[in-house]
Amino acid sequence: MKNVHNFSAGPAALPRQALEKAQSSLLNYEESQVSIMEMSHRSKTYENVHFQAISRLKSLMKLDEDTHILFFQGGANLQFSMVPMNFLNNQSSYVLTGVWSEKAANEAKRFGTIDVQTHAKENGYSTIPSPDDLSYDDRNSYLHITSNNTIYGTQWKKFPYSKLPLVCDMSSDILSRDIDYNAFDLIYAGAQKNLGPAGVTIVAVKDSFLKNAHSDVAPMLSYQTFSKSQSMYNTPPVFSIYMLNLVLEWIESEGGVSSIEARNEKKASLLYDAIDRSEGFYRGHAEKEARSTMNVTFNLQHDDLEKLFLQEAEEAGLIGLPGHRLVGGIRASIYNAVPLESCEVLAAFMDSFKRKHT
Ligand code: PMP
Repeated sequence: MKNVHNFSAGPAALPRQALEKAQSSLLNYEESQVSIMEMSHRSKTYENVHFQAISRLKSLMKLDEDTHILFFQGGANLQFSMVPMNFLNNQSSYVLTGVWSEKAANEAKRFGTIDVQTHAKENGYSTIPSPDDLSYDDRNSYLHITSNNTIYGTQWKKFPYSKLPLVCDMSSDILSRDIDYNAFDLIYAGAQKNLGPAGVTIVAVKDSFLKNAHSDVAPMLSYQTFSKSQSMYNTPPVFSIYMLNLVLEWIESEGGVSSIEARNEKKASLLYDAIDRSEGFYRGHAEKEARSTMNVTFNLQHDDLEKLFLQEAEEAGLIGLPGHRLVGGIRASIYNAVPLESCEVLAAFMDSFKRKHT
């Protein structure tokens, strides 16, 4: 089998350890003679997986006791609707730093007035605002940000300090760094980048904020319903949660979030250094201070050269590198499970491609 390095933006590379464990127990989970996919979600065996995933998330994120971990389906896109449906009273504030935050704000407009704070759209969303430059109008029910902009490759380094409840879409960088997760009132993240396969979305919501949720929301769209039922109001996506639990176990075995963060920084530096030493052959999209450690985005001088780069990269076993269809260029997504070695191979490929085509 060819040695492939997977830079897919999501669904993305999973830890080999988690995949092998799933493979070995696929037909016979813990001597039950059936797969984890084939048993009742009310069984003790499945419940153990479910609650272990919750407790691992709580401990890896170092969450306060009164924070609830909930599992939803419908991806981060459903959260774009659920957040305003449950929490928007008259007005809420959205900081726009890319396509996903635009989508979140557009969805919220159905439910009330949106105080939009757009940042650097004219520069192709290449920077992130300083928390000092934001407005914190207390008429807003909450302030919404996107911690990592998957498409543009920018990432918040310092978060807004606000008396307003802080809501964050962390789909593309949750558990990639050791930040204070308790600074947020509600965090949501689709699993398919850093946490597991597609099919489950993680929500961490503080009890004090959950109390503000509207009670007249349809049960399948209500955080309160899911909190009361411990995310078992209906059949949860059992296999996705099982895989999530294996990925969390892998994070623990790697030394926890701070070890993962140190490796993520090394990985990102390998690629940004290749951009910076290329004398303009590669042009990083993000301004240096806003560079994402998860999605490294860059362009070459013209489209044809980018096509050639992608073609030669694929021939060399480097896959998943085309930029998002809206912006083009190159995007290397280097989430938690992408090994350091893959970044070393890509950085060496970038150097040699440059030598060959200069
Ligand atoms: N938010 C961010 C930051 C994302 O990167 C994505 C997916 N790429 C989404 C939201 C949408 O996620 P989903 O497909 O799970 O709805």
